[in-house]
Amino acid sequence: MRDPPSDEPPIYRSFPDLVATLEPILLRNGTSDEVARVLATNCASAERDGSQSHGLFRMPGYVKNLRSGFVDGRAVPHIRDAGTAYLHVDAGNGYARPALESAMPRAIGKARSAGACVLAIGNAHHNGPLWLDVEPFAEVGLVAIGVVNSVTYVVPHGGRKRLYGTNPMAFAVPRMDGQVLLFDQATAAMAHGEVAVAARENKLLPEGIGLDASGLPTRSPQAILEGGALLPFGGHKGSSIAMMIDILAGALTSSNFSHQVDWSAHPGAESAHTGETIILIDPTRGNGSLRMFTQRIEDLVAAMADAGQTRLPGERRLAARKLAAERGIAIAPAMWKQLMVL
Ligand code: NDP
Repeated sequence: MRDPPSDEPPIYRSFPDLVATLEPILLRNGTSDEVARVLATNCASAERDGSQSHGLFRMPGYVKNLRSGFVDGRAVPHIRDAGTAYLHVDAGNGYARPALESAMPRAIGKARSAGACVLAIGNAHHNGPLWLDVEPFAEVGLVAIGVVNSVTYVVPHGGRKRLYGTNPMAFAVPRMDGQVLLFDQATAAMAHGEVAVAARENKLLPEGIGLDASGLPTRSPQAILEGGALLPFGGHKGSSIAMMIDILAGALTSSNFSHQVDWSAHPGAESAHTGETIILIDPTRGNGSLRMFTQRIEDLVAAMADAGQTRLPGERRLAARKLAAERGIAIAPAMWKQLMVL
């Protein structure tokens, strides 16, 4: 877990204090009360859990997207019952998280009654880390697989032009002790937000992350951001997963593919106007009880440790959350100043 890089010591804020700081910024820039509450809580949760690329770092982007009119901060999501195990949500060109929260109880109900549920959210903008979207489902005993397609930054394997977004996927599963085992990862060799953080900090990237504007490999985050492109992780394998996510999150939700997102009519905006799909599975259907299923998860976790895996995915996030509960959320002074300006 990293603390915000700075020569000055971080500023510490409690979770409620940070939410209370963010809400008025969003309200002043045209959101409804409900959208401000949901986004402020989501953004503060990301920061609390140690996301430097999808927490407070995104606040100036939220403001620009709202001010430019590219995202509707007052959108009211429309939920359509699309089948026994299918919910379609039109986010109304608003942020994805309020749409997700509005559909969550019905999606959980369907997953319990039908054994599974597809939650397809379209016409939406996703600006946060995906783990926060799948974790609540695992907390109530469901398995959740989530995907989002985003803004085009990634060349398909062997290609020269940007096509896919950094298209993240997340997976969450309940554990025996009430905890959640999860991973959340971009299908690009590095998340775009992480590249932007490296550019801000003037750091060189490792090899194999991206290409410059002429299609040559580069370690410069600036060269990748200014006309270059990111590579998919794992060559052709990551490229195919990015393709799958563009289909599941873009086509399935009647939304843009990553390469179709166009904010040119909204100066200042930069947001993935795309979709998000979450697949929920009730594990009791095949395992008799949640206890039997979670025992299987513990068996696997123990086998992973026995095989030499020293760190579980999600551990850094949980450690950051615990630390934030004890000492407050650490915020870089420069970031705090930026929030005060906003
Ligand atoms: P990372 O590569 O940092 O981490 C990916 C996953 O691997 C995490 O679950 C992480 O757990 C786990 N992990 C990391 N190191 C290890 C290790 N040594 N052993 C075991 N597990 C490990 O994430 P990315 O850079 O790929 O993505 C960053 C974020 O960007 C994600 O939250 C993603 O949702 C977000 N994103 C959002 C987009 C959007 O459109 N909204 C677009 C693209 C990305 P841990 O959390 O504990 O570190």
